[in-house]
Amino acid sequence: MKVVVIGIDGATWDPVIPYIQKGLLPGYGKFWNEGLHGPLLTTIPYLTQPGWKAYSTGKNPGKLGVFYWSRIDWANMKVAHINSLGFHGTDYWDFLAEDGYTAAVIDMPSTYPPKKINGVLITGHPHGEGDWVYPKEFQDRIPPNYSKEGIHLFTKNEDPEVTMNGIEEEIRSRFDMAETLWEHDLVHVSILMNDHVSHFMWNNEQIMLRNLKANDEGIQRMIRKNKDGYTILMSDHGNGPLEDEFYANELLAKEGLLVLRERKKSHLTKERVVNAGTKLGLYKVARSLPISVQNRILKRIQSMDSEMEISLEESIDWKRSKVIALDEGLFYVNPLYNEEKEELENELTKILLNFKSKNGKNVFKNVFKGREIYWGDHLDDAPDIVGITNEIYHQRFSLSGYIWASDIPEEKYAYRTRQVGQHRLKGIFGLIGPGVQPKMISPSIYDLAPTILKLYGTKIPEDIDGKPLI
Ligand SMILES: [Zn+2]
Repeated sequence: MKVVVIGIDGATWDPVIPYIQKGLLPGYGKFWNEGLHGPLLTTIPYLTQPGWKAYSTGKNPGKLGVFYWSRIDWANMKVAHINSLGFHGTDYWDFLAEDGYTAAVIDMPSTYPPKKINGVLITGHPHGEGDWVYPKEFQDRIPPNYSKEGIHLFTKNEDPEVTMNGIEEEIRSRFDMAETLWEHDLVHVSILMNDHVSHFMWNNEQIMLRNLKANDEGIQRMIRKNKDGYTILMSDHGNGPLEDEFYANELLAKEGLLVLRERKKSHLTKERVVNAGTKLGLYKVARSLPISVQNRILKRIQSMDSEMEISLEESIDWKRSKVIALDEGLFYVNPLYNEEKEELENELTKILLNFKSKNGKNVFKNVFKGREIYWGDHLDDAPDIVGITNEIYHQRFSLSGYIWASDIPEEKYAYRTRQVGQHRLKGIFGLIGPGVQPKMISPSIYDLAPTILKLYGTKIPEDIDGKPLI
């Protein structure tokens, strides 16, 4: 018995359904027409890092202790990145291993550095400097067309059709790898590029269709190959149109809750470019390529580190700032002001509920206390306030000198393309296999791990938040 999981980062049914009806996406269509299928409710915030781990553990962020890509390290006055070692909870394939099943997990975000697995783990975004595959010997067998990180990024100075050629190849390389590792009982493959295309090309119908088709070809391959087993299609969150982005810490500074020291200007020195590249795992890839290609890649790296944003951690007064924001509606009260925490939370809630977009719309639909919407042993790490935005507005935590991204002059964007798509709460779900009847349901992302464990007959741990769907 085999279970294959196809995880398309940021996939949403909305743009897919009209093409299914025209017969253009038979892979997606198989799940929509013949399987258990529907929208998949993900975590709050609707974000890659907590989303994928909620899938693989069946647990909410309050149990995982992870709510974003980073956490605020008040003691060291830093915004600290969280990698795979920063999570609590057990991935479901480790429970399968106890019953003797092997697994191949390909490119799932938040798995670097690799943990030991009963099978093969090819880690996903973001990577660091070290080994990125378990077992290490398999790393040397990764073919050259499988790039560790996606290196084809949309930038202002490149034709999106050209970028899309590279992205199609990257998508194919992931499905090729799934076929290479087919001998394992469980095969999981993530496709991160879909989210990237959605962020930058949401309003480009042609590119979006090319992207959907590239993923659909892979989906069809997996379905054909797994004709006697169960195949699951899922995403870590959805996507939809974006109208504008706002800089939450600029808002907090204006309201007097955050204090700026000086605005450290970011300079595009070669060293910074290399550092950024190393962080993204691109530089090593670049070094082994011809010079002309290296330059193109370095230009792409520059695009992600243009002059428009300024580092938060070097620019704020950590002692006098009472509240700090991260992305995605997350706000943290400085522990130095714990005595006035409740008043600060109330004040901030009022500010957020009154915050209007440039055309007068409410930016936040709802504002919660973190302890009201998460549960588990790690609520101490939870954001104090979680704002749910009207999804056409996206919250960023870096500083730019502006509250709204649309006010930033175009030249400051350097090589970077403005985002036109952003995450949504509802992703996609589909399950086909022996005895599964077509039916529309609306499961939670926490239900996937227990569903897969049940398919193998493996015991479902009691502290998992979800329940099996069949
Ligand atoms: Zn994602």
